[in-house]
Amino acid sequence: METDTPPTEKRRSRKQKLRSVLMDNLLVILLILAVAIGVGMGFALRTVWSPDDKRKIFYLAFPGQLLMNMLKCLILPLIVSSLITGMAVLDKSVSGKLGGAAVVYYLTTTLLAVVLGIILVLSIQPGFKGGNTVIQRTGTAKISQPIESLLDLIRNCFPSNIVTATFERGETVINLVEKKLSAVTTVAPDNMTTMSTTVTTSTMAPDPIFIETPKLQMGGGTNVLGIVVFSIALGCVINYLGDKGEPLKNFFESLNAATMILVKLVIWYSPIGIMFLIATKFIEMENPSRVFEQLMYYFLTVLAGLAIHGLIFLPLIFFIATRKNPYLFLFRQMKAIITAWGTASSSATLPITMECLVNRNKVHSNIVRFVAPVGATINMDGTALYEAVAAIFIAQYNGRILTVAEVIIISLTATAAAIGAAGVPQAGLVTMVIVLTAVNLPTNDVTLILAIDWFLDRFRTAINVLGDSYGAGILGHIFRNTFANIPDDYSNDITETESDFNDKPANGDVKEVDLNKIYPHIEKQGFNNPGFLEDTRM
Ligand code: ASP
Repeated sequence: METDTPPTEKRRSRKQKLRSVLMDNLLVILLILAVAIGVGMGFALRTVWSPDDKRKIFYLAFPGQLLMNMLKCLILPLIVSSLITGMAVLDKSVSGKLGGAAVVYYLTTTLLAVVLGIILVLSIQPGFKGGNTVIQRTGTAKISQPIESLLDLIRNCFPSNIVTATFERGETVINLVEKKLSAVTTVAPDNMTTMSTTVTTSTMAPDPIFIETPKLQMGGGTNVLGIVVFSIALGCVINYLGDKGEPLKNFFESLNAATMILVKLVIWYSPIGIMFLIATKFIEMENPSRVFEQLMYYFLTVLAGLAIHGLIFLPLIFFIATRKNPYLFLFRQMKAIITAWGTASSSATLPITMECLVNRNKVHSNIVRFVAPVGATINMDGTALYEAVAAIFIAQYNGRILTVAEVIIISLTATAAAIGAAGVPQAGLVTMVIVLTAVNLPTNDVTLILAIDWFLDRFRTAINVLGDSYGAGILGHIFRNTFANIPDDYSNDITETESDFNDKPANGDVKEVDLNKIYPHIEKQGFNNPGFLEDTRM
């Protein structure tokens, strides 16, 4: 009897499907195991090593450093190629709508997180707990000025040099420079003669005069915001150019597909890296018994807020918008969530977030290319919630009762501070100065929460990544019809394309496959190498 698909082929296809499902979930299992082993190893080694065994800890950190390097190395090609191709293929009318919808989602969820944080911290009142215990101030925190922070944020959107923006961003530092009296120059009233006064015979040294001198200091890592703005602009222009822009578009599409394949390779290394990252952090951790009751309540308040936002609010918004199971979506993003927890950096997690969105949650690649990089840069629900809670906690610690107006100011500035925070570890701690200064709280008091900030950072980063993921899922659903006719180029869904890979001739030669169907742009670029593709599929 003639059938469309022979039974052996069907069996093989089923086997392949099963293998694919197992492989994906195997990674999640491996990641969970890695976290557990990492924590266990950290605590076990603490009993034999002290935090001062810096050299041993440095060696132990090596596998984790490799993972961080690999992930960070992929951020740049991924953001640039994703955003440029994402914008280049969008219909002009769609790009505005998609951008608008993304901004509405980012702002609504961030504000929601802030309001939730404020309600929790005002009801739990962690700053008033614990009687007269005094929290130890630990370390030194980098303090910057609020206005300068905001100006830096805007200035960084427009880098003066796109090459240097890949490794440095600008930050204003204010130095107090002593004014030298001998150099004082005064201008005569008639504006005609200029005379210099030099103090030479004074017996009493005059009080020194200091002048606040702002200076733009370059450094501090990739200017992701500048790269994002530049890539969006370039993508729009390529789109506008039409045929003339085609070669550039093809180039970036090819780069994008290649980077995604590299991401898949790195993902297999991530459990090892995460295990050692976590173990190292737990060895370096301060003695937990030094964390006071107030700080414990503060920690639990932030954690409760993050849990409610990430496990109830965001899933609810996702469900209302898409009518799909939000927890299945969350489960499929698990690799990204665990990586976010392990790395404490939403930028470093971006490659994995995108891979999960496209290949596991099947969100259209063109939506992911736009929404995920922008989200990782500006959408930080977890950070916003934490900033609001931390600011009010510091107010309570200082015995301040905040007015309604001050609470509103905190909610607005916490949103701004979260947008301004880079997707790197503990960036939120630095931008919190914006919130503290807005309501006249002592900025130095961020040192109160420093002891546990590294740990809280992991949870808020996980929620930041979850917020970006749900955002991409919601927009993918809203714009599903708009993108229905646009090829989903790097969603190498095994169920859609498996037949192309199934009938490998017995002699081991690889059958010629229709790559045009799977990677239209790669085919165009002439990388017709099916063996290569098959090897890296998951
Ligand atoms: N570590 C966070 C992130 O990368 C930012 C922060 O809250 O410090 O998303």
